[in-house]
Amino acid sequence: MPKKPFNSFEMAQAQFDRVAGLLNLDAATRELLRNPLREYHFSIPVRMKDGSKQIFRGFRVQHNDARGPGKGGVRFHPLETIDTVRALSMWMSWKCAVVDIPLGGSKGGVICDPHELSDFELEQICRGWVRQIAKDVGPARDVPAPDVMTNSQSMLWMLDEFEAINGGHFPGFITGKPLNAGGSKGRTEATGYGVVFTIREALKELGIRPGDTTASVQGFGNVARYAIQLYNQIGGTVTCVSCWDQKEKQAFAYRRSDGVNLEELLNITDHFGGIDKAKAVELGYEVLPGEKWIEQDVDILIPAALENQITLETVNDIHKRVKIIAEGANGPTHPDADAVLNKREIFVIPDLLANAGGVTCSYFEQVQSNMNYFWEKDEVLGKLDVKMTSAYISVSSLARSRKVSMRDAAYMIAVSRVAQACKDRGWL
Ligand code: NAD
Repeated sequence: MPKKPFNSFEMAQAQFDRVAGLLNLDAATRELLRNPLREYHFSIPVRMKDGSKQIFRGFRVQHNDARGPGKGGVRFHPLETIDTVRALSMWMSWKCAVVDIPLGGSKGGVICDPHELSDFELEQICRGWVRQIAKDVGPARDVPAPDVMTNSQSMLWMLDEFEAINGGHFPGFITGKPLNAGGSKGRTEATGYGVVFTIREALKELGIRPGDTTASVQGFGNVARYAIQLYNQIGGTVTCVSCWDQKEKQAFAYRRSDGVNLEELLNITDHFGGIDKAKAVELGYEVLPGEKWIEQDVDILIPAALENQITLETVNDIHKRVKIIAEGANGPTHPDADAVLNKREIFVIPDLLANAGGVTCSYFEQVQSNMNYFWEKDEVLGKLDVKMTSAYISVSSLARSRKVSMRDAAYMIAVSRVAQACKDRGWL
C-alpha cells in the first residue's frame, strides 16, 4: 500500500482529540479548538533580480486568540503547506497557555526557498507578506516572529512595511527584531536555553547529574546551538550534531566521541545552520548520514530541526541508553512513536513545554517594546528561567499525580486554560 504522506495538522488534531478525551471536553469545545478560528491564504507578487515576476504563496493562520493576541512565527520553506501552518498555529495556542503567557496561537508561512533567493528578493517577500495581511495583524491582534529560515532582518523589513502602511511606530507588532531596533536581549538564546532549563529540571527529577550525561542533537540552527551552549555550561557533552547540507541536498551528522566543539563548528557554519562538510572532515569530525543522530549511544536526544523525525520507522533506532528526549523542534515525534517511547519509559519533554522559551522571551520583547523600556540580558534570562521552571514543575506534578505522560499533562494544562478563556468570553 502506498505510504500516506505525513500531515502535521492531522497529527496536531489527533493529539488534541486524545487530550479532549482525557479532559472530557464537550462537543462544542472540541469543535472550536480542533480547528483554527481564522486563516488567510494569499499570493505575493515579487519582481525578481532578473526582472521577471514570480508569485509566492503566503499564509497566516490564527488558531485561537481567547487568551490574548495571536503569536507565532513566519516560516519560509519550499515544502511549506497550509496544514503545517495550521498545526503550528494550534501548537502555539497550547505553548502560550502552558507557560501561562497572555497570548493566543498563530503561525504564518511562505512557500519559497531562501537558499535560492537574493536578499533583495527576500526583502520583497517579507514586505509583500505584510502588505497582504497588514489589516488583520498588529500589536493588539496578532504578532509575528521569526521561524525556520526567517531571522531578525526579515522581522525588521516586515516591521518597516507595517509602520509605513499604518503611519507610526509600532514596535510591538513583531518580535525577534534586531537589538538596535527594539529587540530583546536574550531572545536569540531563549529557545535553546529554555530547552536546557527543562532538561536540567528533568535530570534533577530523575536524579542524574548533568555532568554525567551526553547528548545528540538534530539541527544546528538557532535552537540547537544555544541548547548546546547552555548544556555544555551545566556540564553536559554533545557528541553528535546533524544538519542539512545544501550543496549535497542531504543531511549529515557530525560526531566526536569526546564532545563537539561548538565555537569551532560555528566558524564553519553558514547562516542557514549548515556545517561545511569538507572543513568538518579537516577538523577531524566523523561524518555520518544525517539520520544517524538518532542512533547515538547517549543519554539525551534533542531533536531541534524539523517535525516528524521520531516515527514508527525510526523510533526503534533509538539507543537503549537514551533516558530523555527534549523536543526543541515543533512536532518532532509522531503519536505512534510516542506510544513506543512511553512503553520504553523514555522521559519525553514535549515540544510545547521544551521549546516554549522562544515565545516566552518574545512576550518579554513585546512587553519591553510596548513600554519602550528594555531590560538587561540577565534580567530577561532570569525571568525566562522562572517561567520555564514553574511551567515544568506544574506539568511534571500533574504527570505524576494523574499518572500520565509529560506530553499528556502539558496538553491537559494548556487545553484547559484555552477552553476556560473561551468559556469566560462566552464563546462556549
Ligand atoms: P533554523 O533554521 O535556525 O535551523 C534549522 C536547522 O535544522 C539547521 O541547522 C538545518 O541545517 C537543520 N536541518 C534542516 N533539515 C534537516 C534534516 N533533514 N536533518 C538534520 N538537520 C536538518 O531553525 P530553528 O529556529 O533552530 O528551528 C528549529 C526547530 O525549532 C523548528 O521546528 C522550529 O519550528 C522550532 N522552534 C524554533 C524556535 C525559535 O525560537 N527559533 C522556537 C520554538 C520552536
